[in-house]
Amino acid sequence: MTLRPLHIQLDGATLEQIPFEASDGAELGLCRIAADGAAGTDRPAVLLLHGLTASSDIFTLPETRNLVDVLLDAGYEPWLLDWRGSCRLPHNERRERYSFDDVALFDIPEAVAYIRGRIGERRLFVVAHCLGAISLSMSMTAGLVPGLAGVVAQGVFMTPKVSGRTRLRLHLGGELLRTRWAHLPVDFKKVGLRSRYTPVFALASLSADCDDPTCQILQNSAWGTGASLFAHENLDKITHDRLAELFGTLPTWVLPHLRRMELAHSVVRWNPGGHRYGRLPENALDHADRIDCPVMLVSGSDNKIWLDSNELCYDVLTRRFPQLDVRYVEVPGYGHMDPIIGRGAALDVFGPVVRFLDEHRRSGAVVGS
Ligand SMILES: [Zn+2]
Repeated sequence: MTLRPLHIQLDGATLEQIPFEASDGAELGLCRIAADGAAGTDRPAVLLLHGLTASSDIFTLPETRNLVDVLLDAGYEPWLLDWRGSCRLPHNERRERYSFDDVALFDIPEAVAYIRGRIGERRLFVVAHCLGAISLSMSMTAGLVPGLAGVVAQGVFMTPKVSGRTRLRLHLGGELLRTRWAHLPVDFKKVGLRSRYTPVFALASLSADCDDPTCQILQNSAWGTGASLFAHENLDKITHDRLAELFGTLPTWVLPHLRRMELAHSVVRWNPGGHRYGRLPENALDHADRIDCPVMLVSGSDNKIWLDSNELCYDVLTRRFPQLDVRYVEVPGYGHMDPIIGRGAALDVFGPVVRFLDEHRRSGAVVGS
């Protein structure tokens, strides 16, 4: 397998790339970023989970002050998992199908177990974005990752919800796309001017303010769903010009699972139970009482794909499970991706994230509790 090298600029830290294969045979990417001179460290570890079609690159943008920089400076040890939906892995380009059940059952718990084996008694946090957070919620409510020190879920967590227009397009357009293509690309340069994907790019260009086709399909169309992945003005120009590198093709076979979750406004298992997937709950929300660590839900105020899903999640969790330690932080003027890749994210988003981690750095759940 060829894992595309991580796009990272390290100053005072060292990247340790770890060969990592899930127990079902899926090859994944895992790396640790260790601050130089931190041998024998007592730094808490923070596992970062990207969203679907993105990769760990979203946490290491060299052109901005990124989350890895901020965590290192704040005394944490970042770990990056490229789960099987990462565009740094070849899975999405091939026809090896997976579901978010596999991510929840294999990728996340096995990465957590590996990291725990390496860090011993040190605390372990998880910061997860989008489908990384949705999958994590399934792992947590299955009891597969007990004893985390705290979790930050960005954009969406346990109550996925989209607009009526996006829902309709997911149902109708999603079926149309799925019957015709296994993947939907975003890099117009790779696709070329005349390809079978041209109508999708043409649709995405309608009423677009920006003339970059990759930006149009992500920001003006969100792969044809009519949603928007980020607030355009919040991206650094270099990040904007790297969008085709940061986002890979969308596997269309995941759309029915996403539709099922969105209709339920809850994270639900895709596969039938049985010996393989029976460890995952049918409906994660019904088992949220298994969450045993503080949770911070984060969302941009202008999230134009998952809307106010995380505010809804906060309301539902605090009403149904008042014993949980859950908070909601809304970031004014931000959309869905820009709280992670925005040029001002270090100040506006990572600051509150680090304050949350600091709060639970020496208190709260312990490993194995
Ligand atoms: Zn643009």
